[in-house]
Amino acid sequence: MKLMIDAGHGPNTPGKRSPDNYKEFTFTSSVADHAKALLEAYENITVYFAHSKKVDVPLKERTDKANRLKVDCYVAIHANAYGTTWNDAKGIETYVYPTKPKEAVELANRVQRDLIIATGLEDRGVKTADFHVLRETNMTAILSECGFYTNKAELKLIKSESYQKTCAEAIVKGIVDQYKLKKKKTASPKKETKPKSLYKVQLGAFSEKSNAEKFVKELKAKGYNPIIVKS
Ligand SMILES: [Zn+2]
Repeated sequence: MKLMIDAGHGPNTPGKRSPDNYKEFTFTSSVADHAKALLEAYENITVYFAHSKKVDVPLKERTDKANRLKVDCYVAIHANAYGTTWNDAKGIETYVYPTKPKEAVELANRVQRDLIIATGLEDRGVKTADFHVLRETNMTAILSECGFYTNKAELKLIKSESYQKTCAEAIVKGIVDQYKLKKKKTASPKKETKPKSLYKVQLGAFSEKSNAEKFVKELKAKGYNPIIVKS
């Protein structure tokens, strides 16, 4: 299957940062990297990124790419904000398009549950929203908001590598369970196989059998154990 991960926003997106100036993209991009690495340990999956670490990719470009590549599933990763100053809004929520496509709802339920189990944060539930990436994608699409960067305690988590990894693991678990992905078999030590080439050492070649026999006698006298091969 083909899967597209969309790390929300970009390296230069205005706003989309905490009151102390931590960029949402720093978080989403890291979670995307971890998720890609984890997913690539599974069979039959190709992972694409909708975002770029160098430039801001407009939303239309992201969904156009997903549609063009005909990916089977689109997973957008975000962190949340409530206003622009510190406050107590908290927790994790996952979105699907308002028409509630069946597969998207299933995937969203799994990812949301796994995020809550893994992080222990407040469960804000699976919600619907008319977001561009949910509306304009032709495939199953979900969007997870992994905590609030306007909440001091949650921002501390969001900034940490271990929380970023935890979010990636939870999202990947949801995807793996939804699509019944199988781990790639780890490389087993190679079995011994027959050599492709043989290197022979020959001491003589004679047209007369008697000469060959004479040479064998001489070699035997020297302690060798030669054989005659007729070809
Ligand atoms: Zn966002």
